[in-house]
Amino acid sequence: MLKTSKAAVEGIGMTSQRTRNRLIERLKEKGISNETVLEVMRTTPRHLFLDEALSHRAYEDSSLPIGHGVTISQPYIVARMTELLLSAGIPDKVLEVGTGSGYQAAVLSHLVKQVYSVERVAALTDQARVRFSQLDYNNISLKHTDGSWGWEEYAQYPAIIVTAAPAEVPAALLAQLADGGVLVIPVGSQESNQSLLIIKRQGDEFIRNKHEDVFFVPMLDGAKR
Ligand code: SAH
Repeated sequence: MLKTSKAAVEGIGMTSQRTRNRLIERLKEKGISNETVLEVMRTTPRHLFLDEALSHRAYEDSSLPIGHGVTISQPYIVARMTELLLSAGIPDKVLEVGTGSGYQAAVLSHLVKQVYSVERVAALTDQARVRFSQLDYNNISLKHTDGSWGWEEYAQYPAIIVTAAPAEVPAALLAQLADGGVLVIPVGSQESNQSLLIIKRQGDEFIRNKHEDVFFVPMLDGAKR
């Protein structure tokens, strides 16, 4: 597999380090305070997780289409969810539901030993696999599956992040959350009515805390070829 060149990773003009630094300043203004998360986002090349036609918009703080009717999440939301996920300390592994472009998984891969990420659209899983290999992200395992079932094989997880919104928290994800673990998930039946939840497991108790309102693509049933 051909590796992505250093020049492409570094970017130029609208994808340069200067443009990225402006985004990081923006995230700080919006209340992101975890320095480790900010540093990782400063260096992760979001423009390489988008179609080339959209790469000049990669460091705007907005979600953008990635095909298949879904979007790469807004940088603020990636930062916020990552910050919440790490609030109980740095976990050794994370399960992500909704690989999409692979950007959120790439951010996490800098912070934890192993990332497991599942996606229902096979073409997105395949594309993310190629990107990770070209960019030398070697600690991300991918699977094409319906993520409402989690990924049993590597359970339980001290941290689970869900980047598509189900109407209710899937039971399998609660079952695969380790004792003391944290689940960050947007929940709501419509795009206009979702809240970001952080759920902490203590034994058989699941303590829910509601954070801001969010807009995610819906979590859909079934894996799609
Ligand atoms: N984390 C992604 C966000 C992508 S949008 C990124 O950084 O780009 C959410 C993703 O969740 C989409 O790719 C969508 O196909 C996927 N998705 C929706 N329902 C799913 C399900 N049941 N199982 C796994 N993935 C799902």
